[in-house]
Amino acid sequence: MYAADELLTQSGVRVNVFERLPTPYGLVRAGVAPDHQNTKRVTRLFDEVSRSPGFTFYLNVEVGSDVSHSELLAHHHAVVYAVGAPNDRRLDVDGMGLPGTGTATEMVAWINGHPEYTDLPVTLEHERVVLVGNGNVALDVARILTTDPDALARTDIADHALAALRQSKVNEVVIAARRGPAQSAFTLPELIGLTSTCDVVLDATDQALVQADLATAEDPLIRNKLEVLSKLGDASVPATRPQIRLAYRLTPARILGTALVSGIDFTVTGSDRICHLDAGLVLTSIGYRGKAIRDLPFDDVAAVIPNDGGRVIDPQTAQPVPGSYVAGWIKRGPNGFIGTNKSCAAETVQSVVDDYNAGLLTAPRTRPHALAKLVRSRRPDVVNAAGWRAIDEAEIKRGGGRRPRDKFTSVADMLAVAAAAPTPPFTQRMLAGFCH
Ligand code: NAP
Repeated sequence: MYAADELLTQSGVRVNVFERLPTPYGLVRAGVAPDHQNTKRVTRLFDEVSRSPGFTFYLNVEVGSDVSHSELLAHHHAVVYAVGAPNDRRLDVDGMGLPGTGTATEMVAWINGHPEYTDLPVTLEHERVVLVGNGNVALDVARILTTDPDALARTDIADHALAALRQSKVNEVVIAARRGPAQSAFTLPELIGLTSTCDVVLDATDQALVQADLATAEDPLIRNKLEVLSKLGDASVPATRPQIRLAYRLTPARILGTALVSGIDFTVTGSDRICHLDAGLVLTSIGYRGKAIRDLPFDDVAAVIPNDGGRVIDPQTAQPVPGSYVAGWIKRGPNGFIGTNKSCAAETVQSVVDDYNAGLLTAPRTRPHALAKLVRSRRPDVVNAAGWRAIDEAEIKRGGGRRPRDKFTSVADMLAVAAAAPTPPFTQRMLAGFCH
């Protein structure tokens, strides 16, 4: 959406945005935690962009199966892939895959009502959950698991997640990092946000590690994080409500259990010593991973599409792949804040504009309406901006003023609402034109 916004600042440009779900905005809708409504507010800007002249949504259309890369290219000067990093990095230890193991990224999708994760088996029967990795995603999941469900009920958390959290027996979430406090992957604002809303504690060993790092750390950002960590509560004090324990220097060794997870063994990093934790749910939170796109090159190690300033590069020839661009996590890997994607998209759009001005882009072979006709022939239930607005309004209405929205979590329900949306007269005229 940032790339679309940037492109539409150029006069005469038309932008078509494709998305495989009937709802747009990807990670903002399905990845940002429901109690971070301020962050989700960026969708207001995206809604504004989607109302710009020259903008068209093709939602509920999957690129790669419903339409191919070459078909898109034939209908446009350029195609920009901003598909994010939908997979997660896998932890290769014995026991991963047992019922009761999973990934924080799946859990986040379940919490946010992503239609493909509604049936995720989430076990909240045991008093302890362990998260492996201590990035911001781990903090998000730990916060949701320990927050009072009545507070979450005022967010747009999925109904199924709220119901499960109301029954939860979890009273401790351990966030286990393989390195020390100074190398914590979470960011300072997120740590401050966590400590201001949840009980976050350290045991004596980890408090000593924080003090040792504080004695040597020079980087002011790291020092600030360590200062916050040094003021955390003591894990040995009995808890009165669910709490989060940050644990350090724990390298995952194996997950234990037979039919269901019973715990996890770590080695104390740099030693052979085993540290065991009982748990009923072990979630890895060790980063997202990009996925290859059919007909485009892929760097399997970095899990990104090889590119130079957003221009897709063919590794065989080291030359740009004509008309093909990337922006966001599929371009630079899964890092940074939502806003990082604005400058990332601006760089890509500059490459598109430079290539257009240099005469390197092939003009579409067809008139714009031919694309709408092609898409409709493949996906008669394509959702346009009016359809999305109908879904959006229906969700807000279902929230009943008590919540920002109550999300639809089934594609069929979304499509039913979109299909009932009144078609704007202009679109009706255009469609009538296409059919003859
Ligand atoms: P991340 O920040 O890259 O953190 C990954 C964590 O996994 C690190 O602690 C890393 O430890 C650990 N790890 C990696 N491989 C491991 C292994 N084999 N065994 C044990 N631990 C391992 O990833 P993320 O939390 O998924 O976040 C992705 C991006 O989204 C980040 O840029 C994050 O800031 C951003 N994000 C932001 C927000 C927000 O602003 N509110 C919310 C969510 C996500 P090492 O450091 O030792 O490798």
